[in-house]
Amino acid sequence: MTMSTKPFVSVIVPVYNEEYVLADCLTALQQQDYDGRYEIIVVNNACTDRSPAIARAVGVRVVDEPRKGYVHALRAGFAAALGEIIACTDADTLVPPDWLSRLVAGLTARPDVVAISGVFAFHDGPTWLRLAGRMVSHLNWGLAGGNMAMWRWAYQAVQGFDPTVNLGADRELGMRLRRLGQIVINRRLVASTSLRRFQVAFWPSLWRYLMNDLWLTLFHRPRFYAFPDIRLPPRRRLSTLKLSRAGALLTALLVAVLGLFIFSAEGPGAQIFGPVLARVRADQPVIALTFDDGPSSYTAQVLDILARYQVKATFFVIGRNVEQYPDLARRIVAEGHAIGNHTYSHPLWAAMETSRHVERELDRAATAIQAATGIVPTLFRPPHGWRSPWMIRLARSKGYEVVTWSVSPDDWQRPPSQVIVERVLRQARPGAIILLHDGLETKVGPPVQNTVAALPTIIEELQARGYRFVTIPELMPQSGIPSRFWIEYGYNVCEMPHKAFDDHIADANRIPSVCIRSLPESYMRLPNECVLSISIDHL
Ligand SMILES: [Zn+2]
Repeated sequence: MTMSTKPFVSVIVPVYNEEYVLADCLTALQQQDYDGRYEIIVVNNACTDRSPAIARAVGVRVVDEPRKGYVHALRAGFAAALGEIIACTDADTLVPPDWLSRLVAGLTARPDVVAISGVFAFHDGPTWLRLAGRMVSHLNWGLAGGNMAMWRWAYQAVQGFDPTVNLGADRELGMRLRRLGQIVINRRLVASTSLRRFQVAFWPSLWRYLMNDLWLTLFHRPRFYAFPDIRLPPRRRLSTLKLSRAGALLTALLVAVLGLFIFSAEGPGAQIFGPVLARVRADQPVIALTFDDGPSSYTAQVLDILARYQVKATFFVIGRNVEQYPDLARRIVAEGHAIGNHTYSHPLWAAMETSRHVERELDRAATAIQAATGIVPTLFRPPHGWRSPWMIRLARSKGYEVVTWSVSPDDWQRPPSQVIVERVLRQARPGAIILLHDGLETKVGPPVQNTVAALPTIIEELQARGYRFVTIPELMPQSGIPSRFWIEYGYNVCEMPHKAFDDHIADANRIPSVCIRSLPESYMRLPNECVLSISIDHL
């Protein structure tokens, strides 16, 4: 037998009169496939039912916390935890069998990750409420007590849960943990929980959760400190719903506006904040491979594979990484791939920054790209694909096409390479834009091995299905986006009708890069030995 080197994990379950649901919760926790050691701690928060006995009967350690309240229970459980990692769930929640493995994998994947959280699906309540709950939960951007884990050192370093905060204790802790490092929100890590809180008091609960998130984000403290009292038997129906009509309308409106905003900012195909290219309507089986966050130490391998299959792709590079690996940026262009701007430093909240800040990021990256390759980039992909109306307006005013994607295997979460292959093949359509990563932000030695390993199979399978790989500029003429085309580098200017340009582009592999600007349609540059530098302002 070999000793596992996996971290020891403590799982905390705060419990107040949960005899209906606790046994199922504990069974799911005891059947984890995690191959390290773990302990389960039930916190008996002044229960008056059989909950503690149920826990003891299945051999689970019980810690008593006589002071009532969610945060007291959490604090007692976390204080009793012996693990290097502390995970936490709720008595009415069922976690998947690989829950602990995935939490630990997420926490240990990068040294800067201090905590990780998943999202929720709901196993009871009416269908519309389950769907609404799933949607709201998917938008989760903070720690969720029913599905989270963190390093114990980090928990201790921020002095743990604030004893005065009950509702939002998890979010508030998360905000302080963020000062120590990254919090990963894994939207594929889904725990199944009960909607009883919302079934008993839907609008008051939703209102409190939303207001708390808003207050925490804006003022770094919760709006409400306590839960609405929801400790009723789980099978109660919506009949007990109490709310004023005005309150209901207001909350519904708030949810709708928030949902629309997040969709517009995050949905790769949403055009509400301004035009973006996420895919094109293609009558031929063309498809575009794009790589974000390079160049990195893996880019050479990616280029080798693309060369082996004679496939051209588009690289959205980070300015700082180009300064690090100028030779790789040059090689991207020399081998006939298109290159685009992915900002200078990949700021997390670039979309929320001021236009001036975004402009600096774009310009610094463009300068780095031009210095390394001679190419002025005209494609822009926002970090994480997140955007705002002012960001799109600014990028377009500077001559960029904003490019997102329609196929994403979420390879940055480093699923196994077979999973990356499956996800790409499942979503592939003619005219699609596939998002992959040859780097991860500005990290040295980014964890993209699985993407590199998946790439040959992706190419072979798609080619077997008859797909032809094109760069984003080659895809553009079919997009219907009113763009004018002109070849940027090493060419002379002459008038040419659009059709001739399309014919020319079929032979574009010889051309270092094809770039797109909003120019008068009749202008384009044709092959010539000399390099012309004509400023866009003159045209
Ligand atoms: Zn990126």
